[in-house]
Amino acid sequence: MERRHILIRGIVQGVGFRPFVHNLASRLALHGFVKNETGDVLIEIEGEESILDRFLAELEANPPRLARIEDVRWERVAVQGDERFRIEASSHQDGPIFLSPDVAACADCIRELFDLADRRHGYPFTNCTNCGPRLTIIQGAPYDRARTTMASFPMCLACQAEYDDPTNRRFHAQPIACADCGPQLRLVDESGAEIRTPAPLAAFAAALRSGKIGAVKGLGGFHLACDAGNQEAVRTLRQRKHRDEKPFAIMLRDLDAVASLCELDAAERSLLNGPASPIVLLRKKAAVPIAEEVAPGNPYLGVMLPCTPLHHLLLRAVDGMPLVMTSGNRSDEPIAYRDDEALANLAGIADLFLMHDRPIHVRCDDSVTRMVDGQELLIRRSRGYAPGPIGLPLECPEPILAAGGQLKATFALGRDRQAFLSHHLGDLDYFEAFQAFTKDVELYEKLFAVRPRCLVRDMHPDYATTRWAVERAAMEGIPVLAVQHHHAHMASCMAEHGLVEPVIGVTFDGTGYGSDGTIWGGEFLIGDYHTFRRAAHLRGVRMPGGDQAIREPWRMALAYLADAQVADGPWETRFLPYNVKVIRQMLERGIQAPLTSSAGRLFDAVAALAGIRDRVNYEGQAAVELEWLASGVEAGDAYPFGVEPAGPGSDGLVIDTRPLVVRVADQVKQGIAAAILARRFHSTMVEIIGRVCNLLRRETGINTVVLSGGVFLNALLVREAHRLLEKDGFRCCRHRLVPPNDGGLSLGQLAIAAATMQNRTLRNT
Ligand code: ZN
Ligand code: ZN
Ligand code: FE
Repeated sequence: MERRHILIRGIVQGVGFRPFVHNLASRLALHGFVKNETGDVLIEIEGEESILDRFLAELEANPPRLARIEDVRWERVAVQGDERFRIEASSHQDGPIFLSPDVAACADCIRELFDLADRRHGYPFTNCTNCGPRLTIIQGAPYDRARTTMASFPMCLACQAEYDDPTNRRFHAQPIACADCGPQLRLVDESGAEIRTPAPLAAFAAALRSGKIGAVKGLGGFHLACDAGNQEAVRTLRQRKHRDEKPFAIMLRDLDAVASLCELDAAERSLLNGPASPIVLLRKKAAVPIAEEVAPGNPYLGVMLPCTPLHHLLLRAVDGMPLVMTSGNRSDEPIAYRDDEALANLAGIADLFLMHDRPIHVRCDDSVTRMVDGQELLIRRSRGYAPGPIGLPLECPEPILAAGGQLKATFALGRDRQAFLSHHLGDLDYFEAFQAFTKDVELYEKLFAVRPRCLVRDMHPDYATTRWAVERAAMEGIPVLAVQHHHAHMASCMAEHGLVEPVIGVTFDGTGYGSDGTIWGGEFLIGDYHTFRRAAHLRGVRMPGGDQAIREPWRMALAYLADAQVADGPWETRFLPYNVKVIRQMLERGIQAPLTSSAGRLFDAVAALAGIRDRVNYEGQAAVELEWLASGVEAGDAYPFGVEPAGPGSDGLVIDTRPLVVRVADQVKQGIAAAILARRFHSTMVEIIGRVCNLLRRETGINTVVLSGGVFLNALLVREAHRLLEKDGFRCCRHRLVPPNDGGLSLGQLAIAAATMQNRTLRNT
């Protein structure tokens, strides 16, 4: 006989861990108790030694679906002679630490949903400990029903009995409900008046089938939905939403439906089907019954499966018809998540609304991801992922809050060796998005019981997060650390891979504020969390008209042509409608034309020269289309480029892009197909990365490369750069847990701040 005191760390709360332990212990006839303690699970258990060993082995081998065990520690304690195994209430002074993202409906709940005999048959808000809403309904800590938007729905006797029964799948599942006690659907017309019907969902589905546009309240906000096969409906949705070309996501009934439309491998299947239920980018098959307007010119489709019982019922009610499911907003505004807001903002877009009375507390967009070479490459990490923790390779001496960037904003809270990266907050230029940022920072601090003692911001003086962090730090008398944008990108990728040694950081993105006040974005940094230097960068060119040049790649084409002193070419006729003269003057005089080394702008320039796109309707469109074109072509030779010392005042290298631009221009004059140009341009970027990394390795002996920055969302580029570097014997790391774009910035800022604080602590002691 012996008794063990066992402490389990990881994601072990709010995931059905205690009933699981209870069942396992009962099956093995072991006695003792289990309880939540702070963020951990504590077990005291006694019995025969060999059976206790078996208990631990089974516990680690088959934990509940959503649990993630990171550490199990145990020690022998005095035998107490318990007569049974029980679940003890958690100590109340410090309640459970909340960790769980929203979870797609589990197989058991779906089975009940469609089981005529089940008491939850057809109930759109069914859930259990293994699934259901979490982050989007939570209002405070500790995590229990009273502090969620389910607080106003007292459980009926049947639900309460399930909630109280340790052997039940719904034991202590905070949001459980049934048709007798839980939220209800209602159908509302465009004026906000309720449409009285006994079957709101069926009526909504019928409207969609007849070509109407509907708004449906999901987990983290409203979606706009329509028949994805109906060209007229999709076109109308685009017009009303003022969204010209940015692709819409679609929702399909099941994996078979996905496989009939898209190429699909095992890894993509498990992503689609997994608990996060993200939008997955998949290669579209030929001649599929999806309107071209869903994703114009796009070889990929963004696809998701139903993530809630409501969506399962809806897809069944439309008889498996593919549905456009795009965020409920006008243009790029934040997605509507409150009922009144949806009615106001989506008036004139949606013909009718399927809503319900369970409020969404945290606005949370769908996550978007794809598989590249068997690894996930996240484009947006949000619903289903946030606020799941990411392990840090170094300890935060005190709690830290990293405020992130400006676009695709996220923030990150750091404590001990964990980072809690927020959901996607969008473009903070929108006041509503910024409001959500401040509100959700406050919420996360409550949920994780963290009060930051240090803030981190980008070096950019005009980011909303910069102003916010500076103000708050002054008010609270705590330090605020300014981190260079590309250093943060690099550190973000390092942190994800647990790297602490110095690396070569290839950081290619659109724009970021450089240490010298110019706009960076084509950088080879050398360093670690503590420090970095700019070891190489793309040659600076002018951005005529500043940010306007981001929306109008033709301006960048002119800038690169002027820089390479290329005479006129066939693009002149294409650029006729534009103010070419004004732009040339800006370039000659260098006024309103800041210098940039951005790789994103080089992609834009090449796309415009090749005649692929002169103006963009959404961020990165020109580069994305360049990638699509290139993907269909066999690899070609790279264009020439130079690598030279940067000159006085700098010890770094400059990548001279002029030979490249000259050759691209030549080939355009020769009438070479845009796809060939696009392909050779990608090969050139890969070769630039390879050659410069080799030069830097020779100089420094550093053999590890991290690839970060929004440009590395380009699957072709990331795949080929990775292969080339590994072939050359480098260890090459790219993002898998956070997006390479500014959505991952806050994680890097956090790691840098942790390292900086450790340094200070060392110096002070
Ligand atoms: Zn479930
Ligand atoms: Zn009930
Ligand atoms: Fe960036």
